[in-house]
Amino acid sequence: MSMLNVGRPSRPEASGDAGFHSLTGGRGLLQDEALIFERDGWDKTGVDLPEAELGAEDLGELVRTAPIGLPGLSEPEALRHYVRLSQKNHAIDLAIYPLGSCTMKHNPRLNEKMARLPGFADIHPLQPQSTVQGALELMDTLAHWLKTLTGMPAVALSPKAGAHGELCGLLAIRAAHEARGDARKRVLVPTSAHGTNPATAAFVGYAVEEIAQTADGRVDVADLAAKLGPDVAAIMVTNPNTCGLFERDIVEIARLAHAAGAYFYCDGANFNAIVGKVRPADLGVDAMHINLHKTFSTPHGGGGPGAGPVVLSAELARFAPTPWVLHGPQGLSLAEHATGEAGASFGRLCAFHGQMGMYVRALSYMMSHGADGLRQVAEDAVLNANYVKARLGGVMSAPFDGPCMHEALFDDEWLDGTGVTTLDFAKAMIDEGFHPMTMYFPLVVHGAMLIEPTETEPKAELDRFCDALLALAAAAKAGEVDRFKAAPHLAPLRRLDETLAARKPRLRWRPQEAPALAAAE
Ligand SMILES: *Cc1c(COP(=O)(O)O)cnc(C)c1O
Repeated sequence: MSMLNVGRPSRPEASGDAGFHSLTGGRGLLQDEALIFERDGWDKTGVDLPEAELGAEDLGELVRTAPIGLPGLSEPEALRHYVRLSQKNHAIDLAIYPLGSCTMKHNPRLNEKMARLPGFADIHPLQPQSTVQGALELMDTLAHWLKTLTGMPAVALSPKAGAHGELCGLLAIRAAHEARGDARKRVLVPTSAHGTNPATAAFVGYAVEEIAQTADGRVDVADLAAKLGPDVAAIMVTNPNTCGLFERDIVEIARLAHAAGAYFYCDGANFNAIVGKVRPADLGVDAMHINLHKTFSTPHGGGGPGAGPVVLSAELARFAPTPWVLHGPQGLSLAEHATGEAGASFGRLCAFHGQMGMYVRALSYMMSHGADGLRQVAEDAVLNANYVKARLGGVMSAPFDGPCMHEALFDDEWLDGTGVTTLDFAKAMIDEGFHPMTMYFPLVVHGAMLIEPTETEPKAELDRFCDALLALAAAAKAGEVDRFKAAPHLAPLRRLDETLAARKPRLRWRPQEAPALAAAE
């Protein structure tokens, strides 16, 4: 593979396998597009500003000595740049986005409309609380729904993602142990856990120990019992777990943890599989984050924004981070400081109140579905995953028998002898117009392919997706290995050098470094 001088993989080469190549790098009606910084025009400006009234002498030593280095594009140039870039990527508005452990579902436009209402979008976190009573009421109503759906008495809204929620939950757990003078050292995490679980526990200062998994993809309860002890602060268990399976011994798991004086932290990122069907409080959960951006829609491609509220048991509630909404004779207010009634709070997780826009979208999703609709969300998400599992299961091998929850997990045993790997198969899906599924996760399954259709996919789209995968599977079995090794053939860019990208991520564009780096590669 050749590299451009800024280190990006090149477009398909003229001798490539797609047959026809345009002269310009364009494809059909899609134009090739350079990075915005690679365009000339640094000395241009797209806007007509009046002469500055301040003279350079007014700025003293702050006066700029070098060009600012921003691309000077006119409005149509800037607009076309971003529209062209958007056409190079996949989007949930184009087709199914089957990433497992990620929940990429359709985001109703109603949510966006609500989030843009000026009363929510244009307020400032430092505004007097008497002027934002509606926003506080929205937070309070969202908290009420989350508490009702989980059966838990308290919720901390401010965590800004699932991983941030885990941090919140473990800090509350640590505070609760410390309040008793019981400084426990270990946290137990199953081998199939999302990587954020052990990372969070380690970040909070705990030693992380793995709990083994049974042959049917669940927590090994005997191993858990053996590893529990007086120095275990918490267990972190995902339910449904990252193999897409419900932990059927969950009540016993909670009982064992509590008997050892440990708390049960549940990773509830995948609450969409059980919302309206199971209340985590009834399972013995002490703390659980809910990814609003997965269960209750919200666009979260490209790294955010998210929101990961944490529901807490009565015992942990008083250690929750500020702020939280209080009801008083003057209306609603926020407990902002860890004093008075909030004296046991472990403090703040973020500067203000969390992701207001996400709160609005999540509540809009909840209220437009209603309680019965949310129950159907879980039912349809599970039905869709099982439909995919049943349609593909005749050809692709599944490591665990029986029905799944919200995601269907396959391994790569069925590719044995074809010369095609999970990665090759995923890349070939791009040529068929589909975003690949989650690959090589969970780590406990060889060559894992994890598919989560979500409740928002209609049967026709699931059939299109399954038909494409079955056709590809047939090609792999028929020995068409070259089709897979060179895929994607039709994407704007070919395969990345994944190792180089992981080991030496280039996170910033630097004009002066680019040629030297490219030469070194
Ligand atoms: C998505 C996910 C997380 C992390 O959530 P972020 O919002 O990406 O931080 C944690 N655990 C599980 C099981 C998940 O699916």
